[in-house]
Amino acid sequence: MLSRRHFCCGSAVAASLLTFDRAFAADQCAALTSERQAVLSPDDALEKLKAGNERFVSRNMRNCDLVDQVRATAGGQFPSAIVIGCIDSRVPPELVFDRRIGDLFSARIAGNIVNDDIVGSSEFATKLAGAKLIVVLGHSECGAIKGAIDGAKLGELTQLLAKIKPAVDACQDAPGEHTSKNKDFVQQVAITNARLGAEKLRESSDVLGGLVAAKQLRIVAAMHDVATGRVAFLE
Ligand SMILES: [Zn+2]
Repeated sequence: MLSRRHFCCGSAVAASLLTFDRAFAADQCAALTSERQAVLSPDDALEKLKAGNERFVSRNMRNCDLVDQVRATAGGQFPSAIVIGCIDSRVPPELVFDRRIGDLFSARIAGNIVNDDIVGSSEFATKLAGAKLIVVLGHSECGAIKGAIDGAKLGELTQLLAKIKPAVDACQDAPGEHTSKNKDFVQQVAITNARLGAEKLRESSDVLGGLVAAKQLRIVAAMHDVATGRVAFLE
């Protein structure tokens, strides 16, 4: 049985641990500032995302106070990266990279296609707002990729899926049937689509190309696995 003294000291230890936990969390959850963003390299930004995804898949996500982060970022934002991802409900960038308010620019569009508007958004996020990394994030079992493979047609979706066609065509020598029923083919087209998106960002924009040449920016493709939550960077 615990004595009064033990109980007292146990509470004191618990309280000091709680204080320590809160201080640790406050540090881990501190929003990026202009100064912290400025000293971040593109490689640092990539490592932060890799570490965040590792925390996500290992059920070790940070418990940040989001309202504190809202207050801390009210005067300005200094994100480390922009993620160009699919609208798929299973692939929210902030969650799969264990990031919070003010950490990431997030551009989401079916099939994570890179059109002129996405290029412009990326130019804003990097050149004007200081992000050091662009990730084109494809994912397994992507409905848009499947639709492009099968030639699905529906309203404005038709012209969107046409933007994935170059990736389908680039995989024309892949083995097996070229339909959405062939999981390996769907995955190969999704990987190719993410790689082509990264390539388009590098090559179609002088703004982004200039930042890459000056080593102030990295542009990478990655694939999220909807069965595991793990992100593999395609370098
Ligand atoms: Zn998708």
